[in-house]
Amino acid sequence: MNLLFLGTSAGVPTKQRNVSAIALQESKGKGWYLVDCGEGTQHQVLHTRLSFHSLKAILITHVHGDHCYGLPGILASAAMGGRTAPLTLVAPKGIQTWLETTCAVTQLCLPFALEFICADDLPSIEFENMAVETSALSHRVPCYAYTFTERNVEAALDVGKLDRHGIPRGPLWGQLKQGREVAFEGKPLRSQDYLLFKHAPRKVVIAGDNDQPELLAQACAGAQVLVHEATYTEAMAEKAGEVGHSYGRQVAAFAEQVGLPHLVLTHFSPRYPLISHTVPSIADIQREAQSVYSGALFLAQDFSEYHLDKAGHVTEQTQEPPG
Ligand SMILES: [Zn+2]
Repeated sequence: MNLLFLGTSAGVPTKQRNVSAIALQESKGKGWYLVDCGEGTQHQVLHTRLSFHSLKAILITHVHGDHCYGLPGILASAAMGGRTAPLTLVAPKGIQTWLETTCAVTQLCLPFALEFICADDLPSIEFENMAVETSALSHRVPCYAYTFTERNVEAALDVGKLDRHGIPRGPLWGQLKQGREVAFEGKPLRSQDYLLFKHAPRKVVIAGDNDQPELLAQACAGAQVLVHEATYTEAMAEKAGEVGHSYGRQVAAFAEQVGLPHLVLTHFSPRYPLISHTVPSIADIQREAQSVYSGALFLAQDFSEYHLDKAGHVTEQTQEPPG
């Protein structure tokens, strides 16, 4: 699985950072998911190898403009590019109302079906190669995190266990191998109890704006990566008051507490430039997060790309700067 950051700035874009958008790419094939779609996201996509034809779903964390104003543009471009396959859109209810109005007023007729799933219902969704869970966060408006768990991990039947449990060879074994639940002597048997996975399913949590990282404790169980906002440093968060955002140390302390091996911070206030000798700078957020976290910490930039391998390790991919 790959994470490709398309926008890492909070609220407004800067010359180095666009507003929020993250692409999560499947390990099999070219399928990808877009989490948030700030204005200009489609321009960022032009600098990547991502194609709108292989986009499986767009998932919006909340209704604030820096997370969704790019949506009509991206849909219009997918349409102009000839997409006809249905597209899933997971988002708070307000997004559907806004999008339908925009499409009506601007006469945007999409040549593909938009299958809207309301995030407010905290849906669990199964795509062909990915399962997605929704968790509620704490922000000024309803806001959500999406947890992606890979499906159909290569597995072999646990023959010894099947024999010990007296389950006869034949169609039942075949169905268990295919991941299906079966009935045996009046009892249900779960496929995962009789499979030996080649590796643990990879699991990534991508959170929207949130001032209580601890809400993600359950979602983060067994996850290899958490992507979370760190809009400020602790001192600046105190000055900013109750704005529904987190600071570096707070998110990192949570990640440490739940034993997350990799933490990717994003959604930085424009007051933190990339240049490390200015005050303040992005290095301040990095320092305070690093001071309480023993896992692998990454501070995303636009076009940062992280590969999560089958063993559950993350490596940062070196990227050509966008041409
Ligand atoms: Zn935001």
